[in-house]
Amino acid sequence: MDLKSLIREIPDFPKPGILFRDITTLLQKPEGLSYVIDVFAEEFADQSIDYVAGIESRGFIFGAPLAYKLGAGFVPVRKPGKLPAAVHSMEYDLEYGTDRLEMHQDALHPGSRVLIVDDLIATGGTAAATAKLVEQCDSTLVSFAFIIELTALEGRQQLPDVPISCLLQY
Ligand code: AMP
Repeated sequence: MDLKSLIREIPDFPKPGILFRDITTLLQKPEGLSYVIDVFAEEFADQSIDYVAGIESRGFIFGAPLAYKLGAGFVPVRKPGKLPAAVHSMEYDLEYGTDRLEMHQDALHPGSRVLIVDDLIATGGTAAATAKLVEQCDSTLVSFAFIIELTALEGRQQLPDVPISCLLQY
């Protein structure tokens, strides 16, 4: 499967100088979506994953079908103010300023095994904040899964020492 050919590149989105890697063209192709989910499902099948934590919003698209295939639960990690019940909250740095991610305090049971999923890792700030939320719930982070890694930004340096699975590197 030539996955790279299914990712569209949009220059200067959402702001000048950013080359946006658009996965909607991958999702549009049934064989693209099924390939991604099947590869990750096979990789994590024997890792006793209890929960897949998907990062808003593209992590939801891949995380939910993966959780279904693994027989795991799905937990949404959301932008501030979206989740209705009590949350854990984690701030992280952006290029300019900060942002925050939230997860329900009762989303993961203590000791559960968690896989974090997003479409892309750039600087790693988003995924690192999600890892801290998992830690706050006293759960075990098993691994990260991303479709795309932007290697020049060295985002994996920000992440805790667990396996990181990426299907494509730029
Ligand atoms: P970071 O926290 O820098 O690792 O950024 C990761 C998050 O931002 C992910 O949720 C991505 O979907 C999004 N993102 C960052 N850079 C890009 C890019 N060049 N193309 C598409 N999405 C991006």
